[in-house]
Amino acid sequence: MPDKVQRVKGVNDILPVEARQWQVLEAVIQKVMNRYAYGEIRPPIFEKTELFARGVGEDTDIVSKEMYSFSDLGGSSLTLRPELTAGVVRSYIQNNLQQISPVQKLWYEGPMFRQERPQKGRYRQFWQFGAEAIGSPNPEQDVEMIALFYAILKELGITDSVTLKINSVGDTESRTAYRSALQDYLKPHLSELSETSQARFESNPLRILDSKAPQDKELVKDAPKIRECLNEASANHYDQVLSMLKDLKIPYTQDDLLVRGLDYYTHTIFEFTSDALGAQDAICGGGRYNDLVKELGGNDVPAIGWASGIERLLLVVEAIKPMNTDPVLDLYLVVLGDELRIKAPQLVRDWRDQGLSCDADALRRSMKAQMREANRQGARFVAILGEDEFSQGVVQLKNFESGEQETVAFDQVAKTVLNSLSERSEES
Ligand code: ATP
Ligand code: MG
Repeated sequence: MPDKVQRVKGVNDILPVEARQWQVLEAVIQKVMNRYAYGEIRPPIFEKTELFARGVGEDTDIVSKEMYSFSDLGGSSLTLRPELTAGVVRSYIQNNLQQISPVQKLWYEGPMFRQERPQKGRYRQFWQFGAEAIGSPNPEQDVEMIALFYAILKELGITDSVTLKINSVGDTESRTAYRSALQDYLKPHLSELSETSQARFESNPLRILDSKAPQDKELVKDAPKIRECLNEASANHYDQVLSMLKDLKIPYTQDDLLVRGLDYYTHTIFEFTSDALGAQDAICGGGRYNDLVKELGGNDVPAIGWASGIERLLLVVEAIKPMNTDPVLDLYLVVLGDELRIKAPQLVRDWRDQGLSCDADALRRSMKAQMREANRQGARFVAILGEDEFSQGVVQLKNFESGEQETVAFDQVAKTVLNSLSERSEES
């Protein structure tokens, strides 16, 4: 026997039962994005490696060790996208989207690829949906961004088990000032820091704040806070964000150690975490990136965005407010006698055309087996077709729930079922 081919480590098959949860979530995402007037964008799954090196930052975990890069036949280095902000910004610049309107509000959904150690909530192919608002420098845009994700949590009924952590890294001037303050504080303890943090002391000292190493955590506790180094404009921006969040009744926790992994952030940064998850507890991360468009060759245009991991979000939904994913089918056609089997395709096609979700047996099984299959598929009705019924152009239509049965002409079946289902949904 030939060997079975196994799937690649760290990736998932999303099977139909689980896909029903995805569809519910995707419907929520689309609805909320429409309400907030964000337009969907679908950039390619791979880009030139250079885009991520420049757009995400050479120093980040993503670029330094997690990317799936390869050369194509022409010898170009390409990379499966590890995130989509860089791709959206590239697309914004290349397609001159600023000419359409000075603020572009965009959202996306799709698979991302990172070569990380697989574990619960951390995969090598995982899905993100996200939003980017490119064009406005103002705090109300930051607040809308956060409100947008919060609205999705609300629709899913899980706001109570999610925490919004927020911080500001300020503008370039504030960050430079803080960088020195932090280095001054850490310098005498340099040798006590973890190896990774020692390496980051020069290149990216802010990242030391979110180090998981116990000795780093201990030192960082008493480090100066970014908030205290913000210049007036940055402090104002941040204060206004917090005050509008209060107006919107969106609870938040200020987290002085939140820096987020990426190089491009300015001003507001935030993360949504959930205690329903284990170690991988972040369900959404984002922030303002005022310099990225310019750094990728566009105009000097400010922007802000976030991205959320779908698998992790669904783990929270599953733990807190599981969705009903029982199968439902409007009608199952049960055919008695093999000669009638060839009549089934046309009948179900017509009923499907008239709007019913409808199925029939293709294995020529017994009546009992067909009834069992109807039940398994969650059929609300079964239509039973025998020789007598066929000669009269009718079926025995049976309501699976009430057990009631009536004789109905072929062309009245869809209408009868739809009427009954809509009455039932009005009652409940
Ligand atoms: P983490 O701290 O978990 O590594 P991150 O800071 O690398 O997250 P981002 O790059 O901000 O994550 O991506 C946004 C969201 O995408 C995360 O909050 C998380 O929900 C999800 N995510 C990131 N990496 C993975 C992964 N390997 N598998 C599944 N989901 C992921
Ligand atoms: Mg990560």
